[in-house]
Amino acid sequence: MTKTNKGEQQSFVKNIIAITLSLRSSVRRRYLYYFKREYVNKMVKTRKGSCEGCNGLCCIKTRRCPLLNEGKCKLYSTNKMPFFCMVFPVDEKDIELAGVEDCCQFYWEKE
Ligand code: SF4
Ligand code: SF4
Repeated sequence: MTKTNKGEQQSFVKNIIAITLSLRSSVRRRYLYYFKREYVNKMVKTRKGSCEGCNGLCCIKTRRCPLLNEGKCKLYSTNKMPFFCMVFPVDEKDIELAGVEDCCQFYWEKE
């Protein structure tokens, strides 16, 4: 196997892992919203930080969304932004599953 083939295979596997994890993040977020709404409301309310300085990495990792333009969501801060994008991240697990724990600017104070 050539070096290029091995590199391509590794990057393919990494992409599959990232997509699987982010899918889990997305499904979990919906589950929490529909079945644990109080928890979601509390977490979103107590969330600190903002979307600055990470160039929309969660959007790249989770969906490669076409609405992302130069690291910014075209719908950010508008009422057209999809609801489940607005509530991201719901908690630290959400950040971890989306694969953005090294860069996401949102956090919660420890109780
Ligand atoms: S709609 Fe905006 S926030 Fe949602 S995935 Fe696309 S670019 Fe990201
Ligand atoms: S990873 Fe966090 S800080 Fe970065 S765009 Fe996504 S929600 Fe915003």
